[in-house]
Amino acid sequence: MNDDIQEILFTEEQIVAGIDQVAAEVTEHYRGSKFTVVSVLKGSCVFASDLIRRIPIPLELAFVSASSYGDGTVSGRLELNFFPSDQEVSGRRLLLVDDILDTGRTMSSLVGAFRERGAAEVRSCVFLDKPGRRALEYTADHRCFEVDDQFVVGYGLDYAGEYRNLPFVGALRPEIYQQGSSGPETVSPAKTLGD
Ligand code: 5GP
Ligand code: MG
Repeated sequence: MNDDIQEILFTEEQIVAGIDQVAAEVTEHYRGSKFTVVSVLKGSCVFASDLIRRIPIPLELAFVSASSYGDGTVSGRLELNFFPSDQEVSGRRLLLVDDILDTGRTMSSLVGAFRERGAAEVRSCVFLDKPGRRALEYTADHRCFEVDDQFVVGYGLDYAGEYRNLPFVGALRPEIYQQGSSGPETVSPAKTLGD
């Protein structure tokens, strides 16, 4: 698995430092009030579980799973595969946590969906941010690291379902996704799976 990585972009030590910083920002924002961390499955599960353990104030945890489809020009349609119950959303302050903010479709659609269902406040926190790839205007409230326009895996991020368990973030060797048929033919896939 490690042989498939061309370059390590963020080591375990760098990741810990990045998360510590974001955890402090989040703690500051929510201190004294109730909030719920909503982990966007599957990609954010590793980040979310490390993040919540560095936030020393009360919080609840929920999960959402969605896929966003777009043709590169319009804001994509969001298909909700799994959504928290009304009780977990209505009147609550929510912090959506995702692995990577790319075109911005998944996050902005999810923010809209949670607002529609009566959330009192919806903010976002992403592990990685690719600002150069945005298809619509969206800025995360918190983010750990910025990355260039390249396909990355590890620390929750997958390629064709694999590599999520790498403890670091790396760029995949181009040969890996060039030989497969289901890979990111370009870094701007017409269909973006929101996991
Ligand atoms: P967006 O809706 O912002 O375009 O899509 C975000 C989703 O696309 C992420 O949650 C992730 O599932 C996927 N994605 C975008 N860029 C990358 C990348 O470099 N590596 C991996 N593994 N997934 C990515
Ligand atoms: Mg995702």
